[in-house]
Amino acid sequence: MKDLSINAGRLWHAIMETASFGRTAKGGICRLTLSDEDRQVRDWFVSACESLDCTVMIDEMGNIFARRSGKDNSRPPIAMGSHLDTQPSGGKFDGITGVLSGLEVLHTLNDAKYITNAPLELIDWTNEEGSRFNPPMLASGVFAGVFDRDFTYSREDCSGKRFGDELKRIGYLGKTKCGDHKLGAYFELHIEQGPVLENENKMIGVVTGVQGQRWYEITVIGRASHAGTTPMNLRRDAMLACARMVEAINAMALNHAPSAVSTVGLVDVKPNSRNVIPESVFFSVYLRHPNDTVLGDMDRELKEMVNTVAVNMNLQVKLENTWNSPSIKFDKECIEFVRNAAKNLGYSHRDIVSGAGHDTVYIARAVPTAMIFIPCENGISHNETEKTEPDQVAAGANVLLRTVVARDKARYEKAI
Ligand SMILES: [Zn+2]
Repeated sequence: MKDLSINAGRLWHAIMETASFGRTAKGGICRLTLSDEDRQVRDWFVSACESLDCTVMIDEMGNIFARRSGKDNSRPPIAMGSHLDTQPSGGKFDGITGVLSGLEVLHTLNDAKYITNAPLELIDWTNEEGSRFNPPMLASGVFAGVFDRDFTYSREDCSGKRFGDELKRIGYLGKTKCGDHKLGAYFELHIEQGPVLENENKMIGVVTGVQGQRWYEITVIGRASHAGTTPMNLRRDAMLACARMVEAINAMALNHAPSAVSTVGLVDVKPNSRNVIPESVFFSVYLRHPNDTVLGDMDRELKEMVNTVAVNMNLQVKLENTWNSPSIKFDKECIEFVRNAAKNLGYSHRDIVSGAGHDTVYIARAVPTAMIFIPCENGISHNETEKTEPDQVAAGANVLLRTVVARDKARYEKAI
């Protein structure tokens, strides 16, 4: 096992080759879920897996499972995977790195004629991004029992096309019931999508979980009046109230440093006229923290603060909590396999909590799960300029390889 090492050049070539499916003028990828480009990359992926003697199974959500036989195929497979869909102006590495590194792991094991005890599986999850069909992580959500199959089929894109119809159209509507297919463990390699590893000059992030998040929509209602004739002390300015709330929401995250983040990313002012004092402002709020207790404190602070500002300024306010995603802690044993693999390979590494959501948020509910992060330049992703170096991709894929093999040995062979 000590000699097992992935072929970095072959892996890099595969990433560059698949980047042609949906390539944009600026060198990124637009490969929306269940589009023709998604079909092209899926066809490429299926034939690549079959040429490695894997058996390909597609479930009713279009999730693709490529199985490499082990010594005992009655054992639940050890799985690797990620997603091949992208944002409309996505990059070449988000998701793709995880799937193609898994493919490279299978290729490496084939070359070495190494047969694991349990079978291995490589998975492409449908619609991780949620860009065309909202919400994100739909198919992994169905797999874990979070979403209902027919709810997912009924999701529509902005032109009114349904998820179920598009899945059928591209030829990836499988028969196997989603979630019936049991996995023994799941490991996902992904770019960090944040700047922490790069800043600390670390090669590998040992991901211990995913932070929790709460989404809100707030509407502040004041009174529209003439911007020239209404004295300052008689105004009920919804925009000013919004500005004070935005400032306080920012301070709230700073008060829970270093792990808390808060964002107001969408603001809609009415009537949005330069000569009218704003009557109402609608805005979104995201609060995120790895610890649900702190997130609960932030939730209370937000509600109190919003009420206080509204009362002080004689305005009305409506606050709606539209979505909660509790924090996820990955499986301790799986995390340990990742950490040991990074250590044994001599890569600099640190524990890290994922700031972004991933399919693992749902998979971890049903299967022992962990993730491996590698750096991306300036922490930028969901962007055509997204960039990760070949040696970083290779390091991540080698950690994935060692993790999977070590997990298989530890589980099924007494002496390691
Ligand atoms: Zn991703």
